[in-house]
Amino acid sequence: MLTGIVFDVKEFAIHDGPGIRTTVFLKGCPLHCAWCHNPEGISPKPQVLHAPSGDRVAGTVYTPAELAWILNAQADIMRANEGGVTFSGGEPLRQARFVAATARLLRGMHILLDTSGYATKGDLRLVVALCDMVYYDLKLIDPAQHRRYTGYDNAPILHNFHVLGGLGVPYVVRVPLIPGVTDTDDNLAAIAATVRGAPGLLRVDLLPYNHVAGGKYAAAGMTFAPPYDEARPLNINTAVFTEAGVPVHVA
Ligand code: SF4
Repeated sequence: MLTGIVFDVKEFAIHDGPGIRTTVFLKGCPLHCAWCHNPEGISPKPQVLHAPSGDRVAGTVYTPAELAWILNAQADIMRANEGGVTFSGGEPLRQARFVAATARLLRGMHILLDTSGYATKGDLRLVVALCDMVYYDLKLIDPAQHRRYTGYDNAPILHNFHVLGGLGVPYVVRVPLIPGVTDTDDNLAAIAATVRGAPGLLRVDLLPYNHVAGGKYAAAGMTFAPPYDEARPLNINTAVFTEAGVPVHVA
């Protein structure tokens, strides 16, 4: 039987796409970003989180019908507020068949995929075909830097970015600004050059550094040791995008 594993279902989310949304956080991510603020989303297995309020298990297994039933219960509210459902993570494309099967059961809701792009081309195509919008992360264009800070090569991400442009679904490129890492002029200019003129691109969102990124690590029994200076002021250089004719927004 097809099942998926989810570490959170957040209702009434207002930062995960248009309108008021329900966001499904799928467990398991192939990347290991040094700044990840959802460490319980990296392992594909259930995990006990130790919090002052008590222990809880992150990782609930659903069938597509079970998850769709929860999401469809909010359908009227979502539609009335021009919202919908966002599949996030972790990396939702790691469970592409489950996400696709769930999406097919949703009742007329706007569907958004929030992805790192690190997936097979087939999984990207499978899920995007069922979506109304995509949030696509671009972190680092230099392959060595990408390997250093996420643990993996960015070739599949850059390849899939070009595949995405041919799928006819509008998308936003999102850039997490990490001080001294992703926010350098060189990296931002390289991202601007990569997305310039890309078909279907709505805009680039620059996401300011999340200073509570390390908060969940101890609860998950993990260590947060960012190899960069969290206190360094961010370089929020929007000019490289506007000069390239790319709409840009600081989220
Ligand atoms: S892609 Fe997202 S979920 Fe995966 S490790 Fe990076 S920040 Fe965390």
